[in-house]
Amino acid sequence: MPGLRSQTLAPRERDLRNRISRMSECVFCRIVDGTIPAAKVHEDADVVAFTDLNPQAPLHVLVVPRRHIATLNDLTADDDGIVGAMVRTAAHLAREHGYDERGYRTVFNCNRDAGQTVFHIHLHLLAGRGFTWPPG
Ligand code: 5GP
Ligand code: ZN
Repeated sequence: MPGLRSQTLAPRERDLRNRISRMSECVFCRIVDGTIPAAKVHEDADVVAFTDLNPQAPLHVLVVPRRHIATLNDLTADDDGIVGAMVRTAAHLAREHGYDERGYRTVFNCNRDAGQTVFHIHLHLLAGRGFTWPPG
């Protein structure tokens, strides 16, 4: 049915255009593609990890998916493998730096109240000092 087809395709095309424009402006997409330099500590087919520009602990690494996903609210079941890879990469890096037994913190900030400032999901890995609970 041609009418139905154009109705369903138009929003998808608009979404794709918006997505491409967001990606070209996204600082983490640009770190992933190498346009902006970063101290990368891990790269594989799914994720990239690099040192935070403004570290809040002796080890402060950000683990990001190669693919642009703006917030945790945008995840779908298709992304479960990516999120698993992000968490396992953080655990691997913590172990590699000798913090696995002593402990470390991992954080996903989502939107304003949590203080998300870069809208490409990232898992903070923080280690090398004690952390308080509840968080600030
Ligand atoms: P959020 O507050 O969104 O959870 O965390 C964003 C993090 O990205 C902050 O800790 C900030 O220091 C870090 N960050 C922002 N821009 C850059 C950048 O260009 N390079 C690196 N390495 N980290 C960045
Ligand atoms: Zn991005």
